[in-house]
Amino acid sequence: MKFNPAELARGAIHQESLDLGFARVPLIVVRGEQPGRTLVVTANVHGDEYEGVRAIFETVDALSPESMSGDLIAVPVVNPPAFWNTTRNSPLDGKNLARIFPGDSEGTPSEQLAFQLAHQVIARADFYLDLHSGGVKWRMPSMAGYDASDPRSKAAALAFGAEVVWGHPEVAPGRTVSFAKSCAIPFLYTEARGAGRIAPDDLQMMKRGIRNLLRHLGILASPLEKVPIKLHLFGEGNIERGINAPYDGFFIPFVDVLDRVEKGQPLGHLTDLYGRTLSSFESPCAGIVGLRREVPAVEQGEPLFLIAGELQ
Ligand SMILES: [Zn+2]
Repeated sequence: MKFNPAELARGAIHQESLDLGFARVPLIVVRGEQPGRTLVVTANVHGDEYEGVRAIFETVDALSPESMSGDLIAVPVVNPPAFWNTTRNSPLDGKNLARIFPGDSEGTPSEQLAFQLAHQVIARADFYLDLHSGGVKWRMPSMAGYDASDPRSKAAALAFGAEVVWGHPEVAPGRTVSFAKSCAIPFLYTEARGAGRIAPDDLQMMKRGIRNLLRHLGILASPLEKVPIKLHLFGEGNIERGINAPYDGFFIPFVDVLDRVEKGQPLGHLTDLYGRTLSSFESPCAGIVGLRREVPAVEQGEPLFLIAGELQ
């Protein structure tokens, strides 16, 4: 199961795979006619996030390797077991693939998958992009997230072509992007509306973003497609540090993603199955709603909101 893109012919598109026994992960390698840098793009780390899958398919279809200097390695469906199960986590071990990097070659199926993806694919990148969205259960702004401690990551976020960018002063462990950071590889990730659908403007944002990164890295020669940044968020992007459900219940939100909220403003409440309020939620600070639960049935501990700050 050795993946060696350097052995593949230049000026062509190759369909490869990582075979793990329990899953075959598709790899698309676009080898530019001329040597150059390598952009690695992944999607569907969470099995219920579909925007990035289609963005990769349509971007690769439109590329001409003869006019490229450098390579694109794209993994449209990182997590086939979760993809075919239409769930965020893998049905093989229940694990969230975005919490267990750099994985373990002898571990559970998700841990093996993380290990092979990290070492055989992500480690080859000069720049790494991971395409996420809100999945089925959440809604996120359509945005590019960057590592605020790495000027290369911030410069790429400004070139990406998303109207909303979100800088993170710290990167939580266990992610694809925290593995990239541990290898000194600069990265971006995206979010998008999710809800198990592909909104046309989210698809456009991701396709434009991949093309703009290829230009930013000198792999494509065409000029950037520029989009003015409307909102620059800053702060903690780890949804496990947002407002979480204290009980199982039925969730009723009062605010939407990207709404501006004041400290103490009511955000929503959680009821029991008689409609009686179990818990009410207020904003812990002034800021902007950066994540909202969409599916009303929630389990204790699941994130309901994340409030982000704005870069002044
Ligand atoms: Zn995700």
